[in-house]
Amino acid sequence: MRPWLITVNDAPHRMLSRELHLWLGETDLDADVEFVAVEGRNVECQYNTAIESALIRGHENLVFIDSDVRPADLSDFWTCPTDVVGAAYNLHLDTDDSIHFGFWRTTRPVLLATGPPWIEWEYDAKHTRATDCLCRTFCRKALAAGFTVKQQGLVLHDSGKQLHQTP
Ligand SMILES: [Zn+2]
Repeated sequence: MRPWLITVNDAPHRMLSRELHLWLGETDLDADVEFVAVEGRNVECQYNTAIESALIRGHENLVFIDSDVRPADLSDFWTCPTDVVGAAYNLHLDTDDSIHFGFWRTTRPVLLATGPPWIEWEYDAKHTRATDCLCRTFCRKALAAGFTVKQQGLVLHDSGKQLHQTP
């Protein structure tokens, strides 16, 4: 088993970006790669399926990538000494200790401490609207469990705004 597992969230309505295809072929990261085909359009279920599938493989270091992400600058992404690291894209974050999903990595102990379920939307009392995106809800759980979270690196992610921004 290699030290890293890269899980590509291969949702059926998305296409693997050309840039990600090239990056997967060229990376010198010592990693196994798994494509997780997830049914339906429920992003919460997609991400939980990807995490559950990754944990079964037994790797310590886990990378989760949306198939439509286009890697840009990941030079500092792999060496960042933080428990949860997410590459930035065109979405603002209010705090330094938060990320949006799309291209992120963590470790097995973080996921064992934060779920299942790992990924959950946060709603108002009536569930009429989401009050925060599912990534920041996960980040708060990781911080509460004593882990560190940081945004590092850069990718392009066209669907990020639609999936992660809340009113
Ligand atoms: Zn988000």
